[in-house]
Amino acid sequence: MLFKEIPGHQDIKEKLIQTVRDSRISHAQLFLGPEGSGKFALALAYAQYINCKAPQPDDSCGVCPSCIKYRQLAHPDLHFMYPVNTTKEIKKKPKSLDFIKAWREFVLESDYFPVLNAWYEKIGIENKQGLIQTEDAREVMRILSFKSYESEYKIMIIWMAEKFHHTVAPRFLKILEEPPDKTLFLLIAEAQDKMISTIISRTQIVKIPRLDDQNLFEILINKTGSTEKEVRDAVAVANGNYVVAHRFLSEVDTNDVNMNLFRDWMRLCYKKEIINIEKFVSEIAGKRREELKSFFLFALRVVRSEMLIHYQNEALVRSSKEEEEFLYKLSPYMNAANIRQFAEAFDKAYYYIERNANPSITFMDLSLKAIRLLKLKPAEKVG
Ligand SMILES: [Zn+2]
Repeated sequence: MLFKEIPGHQDIKEKLIQTVRDSRISHAQLFLGPEGSGKFALALAYAQYINCKAPQPDDSCGVCPSCIKYRQLAHPDLHFMYPVNTTKEIKKKPKSLDFIKAWREFVLESDYFPVLNAWYEKIGIENKQGLIQTEDAREVMRILSFKSYESEYKIMIIWMAEKFHHTVAPRFLKILEEPPDKTLFLLIAEAQDKMISTIISRTQIVKIPRLDDQNLFEILINKTGSTEKEVRDAVAVANGNYVVAHRFLSEVDTNDVNMNLFRDWMRLCYKKEIINIEKFVSEIAGKRREELKSFFLFALRVVRSEMLIHYQNEALVRSSKEEEEFLYKLSPYMNAANIRQFAEAFDKAYYYIERNANPSITFMDLSLKAIRLLKLKPAEKVG
């Protein structure tokens, strides 16, 4: 990963490069920033720069043997730890190294913007919580006992440092207190308050802010085949999160489908056309579960936007033009009297569908509820 492949964050890149040029690289650094801000990519580019055999003033060379191994995430002095758990294949004592092949694929597939849920899906740990496991603490000790192979520094990137298993944190803390020579720990985290404070206090924090809209726009225009208008809409929705913007672009079609379905459905409910509602339900219930989940996520986003409209925070509604029109047309019907009940109902529906509830029953129940809720005027309140 080269610095120039990462959107924005020019000042942070310069500071990181300067630490290498001045030979004052701190042995434990915490890259802290929200999802989709680029913190993992920056840590990786930094590691590559530190190990590059022919570093340029503003970036790694990209072509030396070290850089080539970094590109495949397969440098012998580059190590990773990340949350894992048992799976069908790894039945006990899971550790990061068991998943290294999946990890490399995952990082490349995610375009160096890894997200936790997608990782859990990739390795199939399903509903289990991922953790940086006890076995990983042993693994660190093993790695530290070797000399580095090819580079001056051994570098360990710890992704989602919030996820230390409670048995790992004290051991890790000890390592940070007595840092081994020529070993760097680059921790990556999103939620400082979920981390152990003694660990934070032993790291140097590198704060990574959200990407600004202009940077996000430029990178998406260059990287995707999307039109300027689509990219503008994606940036408007994303709030500086590269991952959300990217997902938005890959789901542009689904978004329109969901919006049309939602509009038709609410119209039928408002007019109480029971026969047509039954027809609608039997059609939508035939969709794949993933499509239904995406539909309810869309519905929840609609409700959230309506809340913002009704609580006079209109500027906060970050939607595409078409969606905005749709939201304003819907807003007289979804209002202070019923909006929370809609939110609760869609939230439950998502939960039920995820846990294999019958889609026809779920949609029919919801339709009956919607018929009742849509009749409520802001002044009325019915339980
Ligand atoms: Zn190089």
